[in-house]
Amino acid sequence: MRKIIVAIDGHSACGKSTTAKEVAKILGYFYVDSGAMYRAVTVYFLEHHVAITNPKEVNRALSKLKVSFKINPQGITETYLNGLNVERKIRKMKVSEWVSQVSAIKEVRDAMVEEQRRMGKKKGIVMDGRDIGSVVFPEAELKLFLTADLLVRAFRRQKELLERDELVDLDSVIENLRKRDEYDSSRKVSPLVKPKGAIVIDTTHVTIDEQVDEVVRLATGKIVQQP
Ligand code: C5P
Repeated sequence: MRKIIVAIDGHSACGKSTTAKEVAKILGYFYVDSGAMYRAVTVYFLEHHVAITNPKEVNRALSKLKVSFKINPQGITETYLNGLNVERKIRKMKVSEWVSQVSAIKEVRDAMVEEQRRMGKKKGIVMDGRDIGSVVFPEAELKLFLTADLLVRAFRRQKELLERDELVDLDSVIENLRKRDEYDSSRKVSPLVKPKGAIVIDTTHVTIDEQVDEVVRLATGKIVQQP
């Protein structure tokens, strides 16, 4: 059966990763959380005090870091930075506060996009992010754009943080999501846009299971369709 690329973009915390992960599992596809890559770069930049306004320092740092993914024994994909598991670290609020500035740097994007395209070369991949259908894989067979009400997204994100033992007040979560959406949508390089031909899914009143079913249905339609 032919393999396709499923590109899922959208606002922060509207269920992209959860949906993408499940859909990949059902289709037997590889899942790539491109946001995790930008988060891992941010961890490196913070830990090594990289001056983000200095292109030389940025390039030097990029040449020294390697982001990769490994599937753990439970079948869950985890993010590694220079061989170390950073899955928990990258989800911290501190990283969320800096990631949009780091991901707006052209050199950072060039390096990550190259790696993302390499991972999608053989297709059979579900990738979520902000520029997957618009820049990384504009030729993706299925492009989706997810969105949801800000308050609903903030509640979901606060719950996720709590599950990782980080208690953050709701106002701070709302502010972070709002700021990131604004920053990601207005940056010069690869801003967050609804990609051409993308199907919009509003997840405000939809459960994860319903979301997953809908995306699997759409993907299956593309897989059986003649190229
Ligand atoms: O998906 P997640 O919320 O973890 O992404 C974190 C941040 O990484 C986003 O707010 C955005 O700044 C950046 N990002 C990006 N391009 C992508 C994926 C994420 O700029 N493809």
